Order: sequence, then C-alpha cells, then structure tokens
Amino acid sequence: MSSFYDEIEIEDMTFDNDTKTFTYPCPCGDKFQVYIDDLFYGDDVAVCPSCSLMIQVIFEKEDLKEYYEEADQTPPEPFMITA
Ligand SMILES: [Zn+2]
Repeated sequence: MSSFYDEIEIEDMTFDNDTKTFTYPCPCGDKFQVYIDDLFYGDDVAVCPSCSLMIQVIFEKEDLKEYYEEADQTPPEPFMITA
C-alpha cells in the first residue's frame, strides 16, 4: 500500500525558517518537501512535487520543538507532555 522511496531522519533534512518547510534532495533534481505543521499533526510523508516520489520522515514530535524555536514560531498547539 505505502511505497516510500526512502526513510529519512529529520536531522538529515534541511529546514527552511522562512517557509517552515523541511526539504530533502530528490533523485529527479527537485526536492521532497513537508511543512512542519504537517509533521506536527502526525503526517510523516514528504512528497516531491515534480515526480511524486515520497519519503517517510523519521522523527519524534518533541524533535519539532527546536525547529519551531529556530524559526521563531509557535506550534499550532502546545506540546503535550506524554505520560
Ligand atoms: Zn522528484
């Protein structure tokens, strides 16, 4: 059902503070991209707009906190303390 081109650690992706988007080079020359808020809401798939390949982003929700801070943004919802 789900066929990902690859699985990529979030640390290996590039975060753009202006667009709040994570990108990763796609073999077609374009970039996979996923919006930080999408990751926040549990969507862990980055898509290349040119060739429609997909990668799965490996991350913990807590990982996003530092990126929000880096972009000087607040998360759409407060980070929950998980029991
Ligand atoms: Zn591509």
